[in-house]
Order: sequence, then C-alpha cells, then structure tokens
Amino acid sequence: MDQQRVDGLQQQLKNARPQDILIAALTECTHIALAFSGAEDVILIDMLKKTKRPFRVFTLDTGRLHPETYRFLDRVRAHFSITIECCFPQPEAVEQLVQNKGFFSFYQDNHHECCGLRKVEPLKRKLRTLDGWITGQRKDQSPGTRTGIPIVQSDSILANEGHPLLKFNPLAEWSSAQVWDYIRAFELPYNSLHERGYVSIGCEPCTRPILPGQHEREGRWWWEEATKKECGLHHINVVSEDETHQ
Ligand code: SF4
Repeated sequence: MDQQRVDGLQQQLKNARPQDILIAALTECTHIALAFSGAEDVILIDMLKKTKRPFRVFTLDTGRLHPETYRFLDRVRAHFSITIECCFPQPEAVEQLVQNKGFFSFYQDNHHECCGLRKVEPLKRKLRTLDGWITGQRKDQSPGTRTGIPIVQSDSILANEGHPLLKFNPLAEWSSAQVWDYIRAFELPYNSLHERGYVSIGCEPCTRPILPGQHEREGRWWWEEATKKECGLHHINVVSEDETHQ
C-alpha cells in the first residue's frame, strides 16, 4: 500500500465525522465491505444507509455464537433490508480441531488456534476479494491493544500475499456513551445480551457479562492477559506487543 496515499487520507480525515469517513472509504475503494458483529457496526450500517450509496456488509459466523446474536443478525438484516454476507470456517479444519482437542481447547491452549480456524481464516478469505474494509473498532475498547487505532490505516494482514488493503475505523474516537446515545436516538436494533450485563460480545464460550467498573474487554477471554485480547482479526493492533499473535 502506498504510504503517501494513507498519509494523505489520514490528514484529510483527521477531524472528519464518521459519516464523511464512510463516504471517503466508499469513494477510495472499489471493493469494500463493513465487517459486522456488534453495536458499533449497527451505527455504521445506519450511516451507510443514509449515504444512499451501495454498500456491502459481511459477518463471521464461527458456529459458536449465542442464539441471541443470531437473532440480532436477523433483526439487523430485516431492519435495514440488507444482505449480510456470512463467512463460515472450513469444515474440515474445525472437524480436525474438535476431533483432536475437543470443543473447549481454548481454555487450556489459549484462544489463538480456535480463533485462527473459526475467524481469521474466513476473514482472510473474504479480505482477498476486497481492497478495503470498514470496522467499528474504538480506541477505548481495550486497555492494551486498541488505544492507537487510527481513522484509516494500511492493513498488513495479507501483506505476505502482496495484497494491499485499506482499513477504515470511523468510530475510533467515539466513546461507549456516544455509541449508546446514537443507538437510542435512532432506535436501532441491538443484541439483547446487552440487557444482561454483556458489553463486548463474541463467541458464547469466550464471552461473559462484566460488573460495573470493569473494562469492557474483561468479559472476553478472561483467562488470558489483557494485552493479548485480540482474536487475530485486527492483527495490526497487537503486532507491537507480540509478533506471534497474528
Ligand atoms: S472466540 Fe472462542 S469459540 Fe470463538 S473462535 Fe475464538 S476461541 Fe473459538
């Protein structure tokens, strides 16, 4: 990726509204899609819809999501009348893992092998078809891995394949309170698990509710160190801490 192009975009979008960042993303890239999973992404879908331009949304179905999350996905699909492209893991790879290590190997081994098969490989397969992607990442989501998230960056996840990719994070500067103010103001759908103390929601075995005062990422992979709590989807967030967690 031409670093000058990225620097130029960063400069141009430094103080831009998320809506304007989305328009820039749709303009800049030919094949771009929003990675959808949670509350922030519903806001981005709402904003994309309001641009009145065509846009694409995809999601990763790991096979281990909560029933509430599947219902939420369908509510979002119906609410916005959109197609959500579902990316599934390779069945043979999951069969092999479960056969060798059972359904809960991540509690002993850490989550990287399972996330690698169920999330990272399907994500890479999707990203090979794109020249840009949009995420709902925010700086204040993680104490260790997300504080440096820029509005736009060159994503190196496929660099070893020579595949350039732009990544846009239009809500990087938003707080959790802003997210929920927007959802309430526009009566957008949200995952019903949020009403039961869940904040950051991933797969069912690796997500739990948090208590008041706990950081939102404390509900994810709680048996592991805070600075390693990325599943590999946003691999450039953790490169500086541990080159092996990709
Ligand atoms: S979050 Fe847990 S269940 Fe989901 S892919 Fe990662 S390790 Fe597997």
